[in-house]
Amino acid sequence: MISADLLRRIRNDLPMPVTIAHLGREGPPSKMSEGYFRFLCPRCGEMPATVNPRNNLAHCFSCQKNLNNIDLLMTLDYDFRSAVALLERYLKEHEQLQKAKNQSANGKR
Ligand SMILES: [Zn+2]
Repeated sequence: MISADLLRRIRNDLPMPVTIAHLGREGPPSKMSEGYFRFLCPRCGEMPATVNPRNNLAHCFSCQKNLNNIDLLMTLDYDFRSAVALLERYLKEHEQLQKAKNQSANGKR
């Protein structure tokens, strides 16, 4: 069973740029521009989708769709379960990294 809480964390707490960095060559081409992280919309392939850091959703102005982490993996032919399993791994890694960062920041004070 996949819990609602896990799904929420995967959608909200795992920044899309982190997911795309993990995907590497498997993921869509991406870049930072004007302070926003953008990646080529995997749905239409026509325009870069822009990630809104406030809700962690990528919006494509060409197909007018929002994509979250799970949607992104599903456009890359993952089924729902394997998308969630992979994102859970990325999320855990990301949380550990954040924790380590916080600890070293605290250590400097
Ligand atoms: Zn699109």
